[in-house]
Amino acid sequence: MSNIVAIVGRPNVGKSTLFNRLLERREAIVDSTAGVTRDRHYGKSDWNGVDFTVIDTGGYDVNNDDVFQGEISKQVQLAVDEATSIIFMVNVEEGLTDTDYEIHEMLRRSNKPVYIVVNKVDSSKEELAATEFYQLGIEKYYTISSATGSGTGEILDDVVKDF
Ligand code: GDP
Ligand code: MG
Repeated sequence: MSNIVAIVGRPNVGKSTLFNRLLERREAIVDSTAGVTRDRHYGKSDWNGVDFTVIDTGGYDVNNDDVFQGEISKQVQLAVDEATSIIFMVNVEEGLTDTDYEIHEMLRRSNKPVYIVVNKVDSSKEELAATEFYQLGIEKYYTISSATGSGTGEILDDVVKDF
């Protein structure tokens, strides 16, 4: 079984943007897409010669945190069950939300490596704002811009070390 990285997080944080960017790294994107389901997209990627499967979770992309108990928690649990490593994405634009705390709590109970990624850090001015995520009680987070790709190399360097 290959290595699987799942991207989880509440709606609109930028999961699909990162997913698409990771797949862009390969030429045979379309052919190597393992499958598409209604609420989860699978694709192949690689970093430094290490192949892995990426899962984009979603299907709950409505602007309503009340969906947590339903779709988001279901998707997070599936990701925990299925993935080798988990990218938990939050975003600096909207900041830390109750749903972020709830997802983080679920992930902490898993025994999987979890990488917390603060997205939409498009320039250095957002780096300072990102420090609010230390309130999750974490020691480390990664800042990235899925839109420009900055920071994605650092996270992938660490993720592939688990494999
Ligand atoms: P998802 O719901 O978590 O899959 O989020 P999407 O990938 O669909 O992105 C939600 C919105 O955020 C879209 O309008 C994206 O263009 C935007 N977005 C994603 N990544 C970034 C980023 O790094 N910076 C900025 N400024 N916008 C982003
Ligand atoms: Mg999406």
